[in-house]
Amino acid sequence: MAEIQLKNISKRWGSFVGVDDFNLTIADQEFLVLLGPSGCGKTTTMRMIAGLEDVTSGDILVDGERINDLEPKDRDCAMVFQSYALYPNLDVYENIRFPLRMRKVPQSEHKDRVMRASAMVELDDFLHRKPAELSGGQRQRVALARAIVRQPNVFLMDEPLSNLDAKLRVSTRAQIKNLSHELKVTTIYVTHDQIEAMTLADRVVVMEKGVVQQVGTPTDIYDMPANTFVASFIGSPAMNLLTGTLDNGTFSGANVKITGIDSPHSGPVTLGYRAEDAIVNGDNPSIDAPVYSMELLGDATMVTFKIGGTIATVKADKDFRAKIGDKVRANIPAAICHLFDATTGERL
Ligand code: ATP
Repeated sequence: MAEIQLKNISKRWGSFVGVDDFNLTIADQEFLVLLGPSGCGKTTTMRMIAGLEDVTSGDILVDGERINDLEPKDRDCAMVFQSYALYPNLDVYENIRFPLRMRKVPQSEHKDRVMRASAMVELDDFLHRKPAELSGGQRQRVALARAIVRQPNVFLMDEPLSNLDAKLRVSTRAQIKNLSHELKVTTIYVTHDQIEAMTLADRVVVMEKGVVQQVGTPTDIYDMPANTFVASFIGSPAMNLLTGTLDNGTFSGANVKITGIDSPHSGPVTLGYRAEDAIVNGDNPSIDAPVYSMELLGDATMVTFKIGGTIATVKADKDFRAKIGDKVRANIPAAICHLFDATTGERL
């Protein structure tokens, strides 16, 4: 059991605010991802939970008990870092066993637990190699096994896939997802990669400049971004954001007109739409601009337009072809548009 409550936790260094008033209850066995750009306070939040960083104000509770003053070693959190942090002079077996020795687990249990943890990450054949004799992916699996072997209450993972190449990242990601499902341990996972967040998380916390922007399931965050920051951070490509004016349900911006928007608002707005929700060669074209560029993605063709100084994308069929400068009838259906306050960026 490990339900974690973060109650108004903040971290300040002098006048600089690293994390501002973070409030959240993380359910037992939940896979929570902290997502945001570099410097937004993800790692600091995780380090405060691990006890590696003091909390300036607020409380951290695990299963209702305040742990602010507990030493890291007494918090029962196993950490996995981007840098693996393996002992170079110990072989894989001893690296995985290390936490058991540190925590004075009876010797008689070591072999069994190391073997089980190493089997879970498919390292059985590498137990007598030193870290230098392993690939990056294998090293990260040693780090994972070393976290698993402790049977902790909480896993804390800080960008564990960042040092792996793209292909290995995808397979290790799947392995982490599978492990978390099998082990049923509350997990907090830090990343700046929105695809990792979307694929792994039960819930995602999007952060910017120390402030939580939105908490929700990947679907919530994708379908209903709370503001333009979240909208522009989630999705590949990110949501298109166009500035313009809304009047009686009609949005008008540079080279764009969309009618039939069901909204009581009027005046300056930011309109968002996802490239995949737009329709190429639809009736009633919304974009009146020539094609700026085309990208073949294999399963689709991405058509881009330059609208009022910003690039707007529309996803077309994989066989769709047009030339730069062509006029393409791209329709942005009113029903799929997102509206945000032009000044604050908050969802309307
Ligand atoms: P990254 O993805 O680059 O690791 P992050 O979101 O994890 O970024 P943090 O490491 O949590 O960001 O840092 C949040 C902010 O706090 C940053 O602006 C960072 O420079 C600052 N910060 C971190 N540690 C300290 C410290 N010991 N003293 C002062 N400022 C710090």
